[in-house]
Amino acid sequence: MIKQNILKLSAYKVNDFACKVRLDANESPFGFDISPEAIKTIQTNKYPDPEARELRAILSKMWDVAPENILHGNGSDELIYYCITATGGPVLYPTPTFVMYGIIAESLSEATYPIALNKDFDLDIDAIIKTIHEKNPRIIFISSPNNPTGNAFDVEQIHRIIKESKGLVVVDEAYHAFSDKPSFMSHIGSYDNLLVMKTLSKVGFAALRLGFIIGREDIIREINKLRLPYNLNSFSQAIAVDLLSKKQNELNENIQTIIFERNRLIEKLSALGELKIYPSDSNFFLIKPVDMKGAELYGKLLEMGVAVKSFGAAVPALDDCLRVTVGNPDENTFFLECMEKILNTKRTT
Ligand SMILES: *Cc1c(COP(=O)(O)O)cnc(C)c1O
Repeated sequence: MIKQNILKLSAYKVNDFACKVRLDANESPFGFDISPEAIKTIQTNKYPDPEARELRAILSKMWDVAPENILHGNGSDELIYYCITATGGPVLYPTPTFVMYGIIAESLSEATYPIALNKDFDLDIDAIIKTIHEKNPRIIFISSPNNPTGNAFDVEQIHRIIKESKGLVVVDEAYHAFSDKPSFMSHIGSYDNLLVMKTLSKVGFAALRLGFIIGREDIIREINKLRLPYNLNSFSQAIAVDLLSKKQNELNENIQTIIFERNRLIEKLSALGELKIYPSDSNFFLIKPVDMKGAELYGKLLEMGVAVKSFGAAVPALDDCLRVTVGNPDENTFFLECMEKILNTKRTT
C-alpha cells in the first residue's frame, strides 16, 4: 500500500529517554514565562489567523523587510517541504548537513545531490559548482552556520553558488543569532533566486514551532499557495507576538550568554587535551576524542546523566564525533566535570 521511496526512508529519530542534563537537541537552555494575558483572548472555537498578520508585522520590523516578503511555517521543517514541493528536484545540499533536506526530497521522490564537505567541514565549492552546471538542481539548501558541523561557510562562496545557480537557493540561517558572519537577508533584493530561512526554535521558542522564509514577494506568493490553511495555531501566534514585543532584551541577553558559555566550554575542553574540537558559530559544537571511540565517550557521558548527540555509522564523515549543545552555566559546568573525570581516568589506565 505504501510507495517504495517511503518504505526505504527512516523516520527522524529523537532521543526521549530521561536523563539529568540534555545537550543533544540544539535547544536553548533558556525559556520564557507565558503571560496569561497573551492567550486570554484566544477563542477555542475560532480558527487561527491564516496569515499570521500580527506576528509577521512584528517580524517585518525586526528584520527590516515587508510583511509580503515573509512566509510563516509550523517550524521551518514545514517550509522545507513547501519549497521542494514548489520547485521539484533535483535537490542539492552539502553533506553532512540538516537531515530534513534529504528526508523531505526523498519522500517527494526527488533526486538528491549531497555534495561532501571537505575535511575541515568547509564547502567543496568546485564540486558544488560542477554539479550545478551538470545537473541543474532546481533547489539548493545551504545551512550556514551548518548543523551538525557548527561552522558558518565562507560568505563569498555562498554568493557564488547563488550566482551560478538557475534554481532557488535557500540559505538556512537557523543558527545565525550565534554567529558574527553577516546575514543574507540584506541580499534578498539583489538576487531573483534567493530565499533566507529563519526559525525561532534555537533561541528559546522550540515549543511554539515558528519557522519563516524570507524572499522576493513573487516567490513567496507562489510558495504560499502550497501552505496548508491555518498552519500556525493561535497559541503559538499569540505567545510569539507577546514575547517578541516585550522580551527582546532578554532574548538578546540569552543569546550573548550562550555565546559566552560556548566559548568557555571550548576553552576548558581544549585545555584537557585528548579532544579535537571543531570551531563553532552556533549554539553547539562538535568534539572528537583522540584516543577513544566516540561511542565509548557517548556511553560514559550517558552513564553520568549527560545526553549529547552521536552520529555513528549512519554518517561516516562524523564517525566518532559528538555534537554538544551549549546548556545553561550549571549544566555546562556539570558536563565539564564529567568530561574531566572520563578523560583523566582514561589517561591513568
Ligand atoms: C533545527 C533546524 C531547523 C528546524 O527548525 P524548526 O523551525 O524547529 O523546524 C532548520 N534548519 C536547521 C539547520 C536546523 O538545525
